[in-house]
Amino acid sequence: MAYKMDRTLSNGAFDFIDAQKIESLLSSTKEDKVRYRELFAKSLEKNPLSLEETAALLSIKSEEGRQELFQAARDLKKIVYGNRIVLFAPLYIGNLCINDCAYCGFKKSLKTTIRKTLSREEIIQEVTALEDEGQKRLILVFGESPLYSPEFIANCVRTVYSVHSKNGSIRRVNINAAPLDVAGYKTIKAEGIGTYQIFQETYHRPSYAKYHPANTVKGDFLWRLDGLDRAFEGGIDDLGIGALIGLYDWRFEVMGLVSHAIHLKDRFGVGPHTISFPRIQPANGLEELDLPYRCGDEDFKQLVATLRLAVPYTGMIMTARENPAVRNEVIHFGVSQIDAGTHLEIGGYSEKNDGQNLEREQFQVGDTRGLDEAARWLMKEGFIPSFCTSCYRSGRTGEHFMEFAIPGFIKKFCTPNALLTLAEFLQDYASEETKAQGNILIQKELDGIEEGPWKEKIKERLKKISEGERDLRL
Ligand code: SAM
Ligand code: SF4
Repeated sequence: MAYKMDRTLSNGAFDFIDAQKIESLLSSTKEDKVRYRELFAKSLEKNPLSLEETAALLSIKSEEGRQELFQAARDLKKIVYGNRIVLFAPLYIGNLCINDCAYCGFKKSLKTTIRKTLSREEIIQEVTALEDEGQKRLILVFGESPLYSPEFIANCVRTVYSVHSKNGSIRRVNINAAPLDVAGYKTIKAEGIGTYQIFQETYHRPSYAKYHPANTVKGDFLWRLDGLDRAFEGGIDDLGIGALIGLYDWRFEVMGLVSHAIHLKDRFGVGPHTISFPRIQPANGLEELDLPYRCGDEDFKQLVATLRLAVPYTGMIMTARENPAVRNEVIHFGVSQIDAGTHLEIGGYSEKNDGQNLEREQFQVGDTRGLDEAARWLMKEGFIPSFCTSCYRSGRTGEHFMEFAIPGFIKKFCTPNALLTLAEFLQDYASEETKAQGNILIQKELDGIEEGPWKEKIKERLKKISEGERDLRL
């Protein structure tokens, strides 16, 4: 049945993006070595930066300053997140859409896009294929349509969690869908979702109006900006923000993202769990689009490093929109999650087709490596590929998301849990080459853990995994 949205905003909703202040800070702040070094130190102490301070980092233009910024971001990543990178995959459920976002291959005016919504059976097929690759975390992605009601989305989540192929299971389902009303969020929350992601696309109102026609639901800037506030009112305290980089000046978008993070923290006591910074990719029908603010690779590096330092506690997601060369470099600047083995064609995971067909997907993927290859790449770069879902399943979200607040938490819990999930992956899904590399990595990480009862516990769990037990966590 078609869904009729209640268009009431959250209690006390307002436009918290102060564009005038952002523009004025960006134009008046000049690069200052003493100041940015102080700010690196502040951030390395895990203190979030204010808008003024973020503008000071964004004013860095010299090569010396940029290199120091990159190094500070690398250091912070190590201190806050250790060497784990969490892996997930997007699963596109349907591309019907009532909106007409100029940059998107799903926009309603595009007649050449092949429209499809997965049936329950097709979702099961897709999830089976994903589990058979070793995936444990999914993000379900939807166009905006009255058919994709909260009940429909909730049913999809239930179906995904019900699939168990061999040793596989999906242990965390995140959502990227249109902003909903409060009742809608409650319905979805009841199915046990992880993060609810909404990208503002651009925080710059005139650019927002340029790419999102006013006569569409998405054309309403405040409805979207307030989307995660309503999610919080609906009981979802695990929120993901993002901006589609390339619609306006990337420095303005960084300030917008930081404003959004500060707003959520001030209003609810909980900042966003993740920040995404997708860059616009080629898409069906995009050839004629006017995009004067495209962000090049060098600026993109600076964007990611600046965000890392401005919001030290927030997870950062870099998607497979980026090509392997960019991912290789940027992953060191504070990224904590990536998707891998990604297929965007609706129904693409069970088809096992390596090519891309833009008429069936939202945009072009830049990194088409499979999960096994991506895991090997991460290990080569010094990271532990992690499939851990422990915090969320132990109820550590929102205010209770203690991962970073408790001294030593990462060392004690996150790294061992990453190793346990990696060991499962190696045993059930990895190629011989990946397995060999992974076993060496696990041993090396174990060697670095202090002798004692805790280490014995980790070793005992690894042994149980080798004997066939699954889903062991600390
Ligand atoms: N339809 C919902 C919405 O717009 O919020 C759900 C998400 S949409 C399917 C996922 C995200 O993909 C959008 O929020 C946008 O940031 C991004 N996207 C759209 N077109 C893109 C393109 N050409 N290149 C890269 N990312 C794109
Ligand atoms: Fe629809 Fe989302 Fe694409 Fe906009 S970005 S056209 S809302 S699917």
